[in-house]
Amino acid sequence: MNQTIEKVSARILALLSLAFGQKTRQVDHARLTRHIVALNQKDSSTEIINEVASCLKKILDYRLFAFAVKKKERVEVWLDPRMYKKSIEDIIVQDFHLEGTKDLTYINHNFDPHEIHEEFGMDDLVFYELKEENCYARLYMLPQKKFYPFHDEMVNLILQGCATALSKQLKMENLKNAAVIDPLTGCYNRREFESQLTRNLANARRHGNSLSLFMFDLDHFKQINDTHGHLAGDMVLKQVAGLVKKSMRQGDILARYGGEEFIAILPETGKTKAMDLADRLRSEISNLCLPFDNSLIRVTASFGVSELTPDKDMTMLIQDADTMLYKAKLNGRNTVMPGLFKVCVTRETCSKEDGFKTCPGPV
Ligand code: GH3
Ligand code: MG
Ligand code: MG
Repeated sequence: MNQTIEKVSARILALLSLAFGQKTRQVDHARLTRHIVALNQKDSSTEIINEVASCLKKILDYRLFAFAVKKKERVEVWLDPRMYKKSIEDIIVQDFHLEGTKDLTYINHNFDPHEIHEEFGMDDLVFYELKEENCYARLYMLPQKKFYPFHDEMVNLILQGCATALSKQLKMENLKNAAVIDPLTGCYNRREFESQLTRNLANARRHGNSLSLFMFDLDHFKQINDTHGHLAGDMVLKQVAGLVKKSMRQGDILARYGGEEFIAILPETGKTKAMDLADRLRSEISNLCLPFDNSLIRVTASFGVSELTPDKDMTMLIQDADTMLYKAKLNGRNTVMPGLFKVCVTRETCSKEDGFKTCPGPV
């Protein structure tokens, strides 16, 4: 390791003296070496990219830095500054063959929809590709200064270090994910659900926030396996989980609780909103039409919802959702319990938004 760093350092020194002359080379040599060494000490991909951005900002003073890393079906993007978001994301979507911008996650920003956007000339954009055994990434940059071949060599040098560090990090993230993620559906597993619920319950109680759960179970799922085979059943589980995950907020947590049973934590969500979401999901699932071999498979789900109250502990909260799910099954399936019904105070005031009230539903 020390020998490698020494070799890299010598290379950097040669390049920097070419690029900036003797005066600045001591400072920049130390800087680039420090960044490369630091890359291997980072313990998240965001921190690694942050280090690369900070290094290239100091050395090249870029106008735009966008780093995109492939993570399964999604691409994580680190972007600086934010005003180029619209222009760069079209390029990333195309380069990574994504369906659309919904497949992008920005890891260093939350975006305000009213932010000012700026375009840039494509001729000024430089890009690099990083390929390691388990890592594919692209770096896009708009350099402030004229970009000379020795700049290019320096970027390549820091990217070599970055690729090694990222690949190691992604391996570790994959191992960690394997312990908490259900491989078929990509949802959290039951054990991870329990630890997330413990954390979220403590948070909700500390800040006096609401929290709800919903549990759902696919209806007559055994028939799908019996009619179309186990692989078809697996495909249905995967598609339903994908649909539900896409419809949930970022802070919501979805887990596979058992075979064809799922459970979700909705932080800062009261019962009415949770029932509303559950009913929307129920309807979306029932509208799915999933092709398999030469058939189209339809499926429905029954939902049970519960809300945190001061008297409930974690077990009771889960039990409540389970009891409601059981009632939904008894109530004919493809339904949410407790159910929503409209109360119209007067004809004039009745609207979808304000007319929903909760009802315990038939027992
Ligand atoms: P209900 O509406 O009452 O929930 O009926 P159901 O048929 O869905 O429930 P039941 O408990 O009778 O059957 C659940 C089936 O789910 C049986 C089991 O083989 C199947 N199953 C559980 N896990 C998996 C899985 O990972 N893949 C597939 N294909 N099937 C699974
Ligand atoms: Mg079932
Ligand atoms: Mg079941």
